[in-house]
Amino acid sequence: MDLAGKVALVTGASRGIGRDIALLLAENGADVAVNYHTSDEAAAEIESEIVKLGRKAMRIKCSVADYEAAQGMAAAVRDELGPVDILVNNAGILRDKFFINMEPEDWTDVIQTDLIGLFNVTKMIAFSMVRRGKGKIINVSSLSALVGAPGQTNYTAAKGGVIGFTKSLSRELASFGIAVNAVAPGYIDTDMLKGMPEEVLSRYRELIPMGRLGTAEEVAQLVVFLASDKSGYITGQVIRVDGGLY
Ligand code: NDP
Repeated sequence: MDLAGKVALVTGASRGIGRDIALLLAENGADVAVNYHTSDEAAAEIESEIVKLGRKAMRIKCSVADYEAAQGMAAAVRDELGPVDILVNNAGILRDKFFINMEPEDWTDVIQTDLIGLFNVTKMIAFSMVRRGKGKIINVSSLSALVGAPGQTNYTAAKGGVIGFTKSLSRELASFGIAVNAVAPGYIDTDMLKGMPEEVLSRYRELIPMGRLGTAEEVAQLVVFLASDKSGYITGQVIRVDGGLY
């Protein structure tokens, strides 16, 4: 894919899926802003890997859950790298618990980061894309939002919201030359799954027709396609990357 001259912002890019998305965007020619929340060292490493690829990079420590901080991040990227052409809303957290045991903060933390974070980051960048008449927004939802998952009422409510947001925003922005799509990964081998007991993971492997977990790179390949001109006539879609599970 030819992303030369494009500027990308990837949220939650210090680890896991976001890390691979940031690197693959850079490999395909984009300059990349690496957002993260706590992992300073990991983010610095990604930043230097992107620079080694010959692209411009910057890392920005900012919680997507904080509206003011997210506005500051958008302005900083514009000032240092230029206006954002590709926005990947990837940052996300889990606080799995059965609903009857769920505390209000388990609910609000996940909604605040996984759903409200999307509003916070997209607001100013979408405005700039409208003014420039182009842009690609890719939101990371989850297969769990499509099928439901015990222990994840908070997470699936947020990720289902990501899908509704994607569909509505795509209709608002299509006539301005901006595509808005979502990807819905199944079970992907990242830190996010590290807390799961091995017997649960092996049960998932049995259920997945391809017989294995997905890799972060496999999600990144789809995101980079959606970020490129090769996906010119695609908007408002939710594309699953799940080894055939759904
Ligand atoms: P990881 O837990 O491996 O990484 C999460 C990333 O999000 C980290 O870079 C983390 O930054 C960042 N992050 C967390 N909270 C915030 C915040 N408030 N502000 C900014 N960044 C934040 O997760 P994955 O890579 O597995 O998941 C990435 C996305 O994919 C998430 O939205 C997740 O819900 C979704 N997904 C994952 C699946 C999977 O099986 N792994 C399946 C379906 C969807 P830091 O390191 O600094 O804390």
